[in-house]
Amino acid sequence: MNARNPKSKLLLGPGPSNADPRVLRALSEPTLGHLDPDFVAIMDETTELLRYVFGTSNEITIPISGTGSAGMETAIVNSLEPGDKAIICIAGVFGERMADVTQRVGATVIRVHAPWGKPVSPDDVRKAVKENPDAKVVGIVHAETSTGVLQPLEEIAQIAHNNGMRMVVDAVTSLGGMEVPVDRLGLDFAFSGTQKCLSCPPGLAPITVGEKALEFIKNRKAKCQSWYFDLSMISRYWGGERFYHHTAPVNMMYAFNEALRIIKEEGWEVRAARHRLNQKALIAGLEAMEMKLVVEPEYRLPSLTTVYFPEGVEDAKARKKLLDEFGIEIGSGLGVFKGKVWRIGLMGTNSTKGSVLTLIAALEDILVSMGAKVPAGAGLQAASAVYRA
Ligand SMILES: *Cc1c(COP(=O)(O)O)cnc(C)c1O
Repeated sequence: MNARNPKSKLLLGPGPSNADPRVLRALSEPTLGHLDPDFVAIMDETTELLRYVFGTSNEITIPISGTGSAGMETAIVNSLEPGDKAIICIAGVFGERMADVTQRVGATVIRVHAPWGKPVSPDDVRKAVKENPDAKVVGIVHAETSTGVLQPLEEIAQIAHNNGMRMVVDAVTSLGGMEVPVDRLGLDFAFSGTQKCLSCPPGLAPITVGEKALEFIKNRKAKCQSWYFDLSMISRYWGGERFYHHTAPVNMMYAFNEALRIIKEEGWEVRAARHRLNQKALIAGLEAMEMKLVVEPEYRLPSLTTVYFPEGVEDAKARKKLLDEFGIEIGSGLGVFKGKVWRIGLMGTNSTKGSVLTLIAALEDILVSMGAKVPAGAGLQAASAVYRA
């Protein structure tokens, strides 16, 4: 009977991140009927707040029931009919996942690869578009959590739109931590997950759908390949009709609503600046401890930092010590970075001076204890200096 009642830990990995205490309290509010007028009012407020966070006036801006991957499936399955062609940009695990999902819905996938730790090059996308003018979709990951790269979207969105293609964007690790330029770039589909920079438990996948994409959904010849993620049906529940499709995860919606309120109160620009500042301090600390960053400065993802850990340090053992002795979780490397790199998330509520200085101090302690040469106190001094500048 002691299996539950977990201790609170500081989740500084690639997600989930810690949920805000206000969000956790909202989860325990009384469950209502999913068509109850009081719940409908919460739904309406939630979509309004979500439009603010996505920077959009798109009518269909709603949470999908499921984690971030459900958002990905929803975007892909609603943007393509079987037999359509899609250009999918791959710069890490989540681009790969998008290609896999796209193939499974019966589409033909054209892959555009970038080396791990680098963004996808617009020239490569331009070439793929030229060679495949019949493609219907360009899919891309905005914040590649497996590498720590923030993908610039301006040029690629322009290429897609100039050729009449729909832009599908994975904003799982960017939404709530930085701008997701939905209306600014006219992104056709953008989706996210609640447990990264939105500081909510995992379980919902916010999505927004542009006007042209909505036209496509209304006029498609074949039925959507998925019943559960068919936006033409889900939108009838979220729209005025309140038509029953599936039971909304009512209490998760309270939590999500509270998470969005917190973002609105802070203001997304202020929140984005906070993510940038704390990452800057984290990087200063890591570099002062003589660790090398994976990603070049202009492409660094403010919510997730990838860093090569000192040679000779045992990856899993170091992370276990951090968890056991300090209650701090960080992430291991994936793919080509496995066993070389750590992934440090500073997401939403966790992106604070306290998190940064705590982690840097803890890292120094465990690295020294494992025999690594780390200049004493240098990490803390450098990180702390960023806040005084
Ligand atoms: C975490 C993540 C996902 C998957 O989200 P789940 O909630 O694990 O399903 C998709 N894309 C990116 C970029 C992610 O970081």
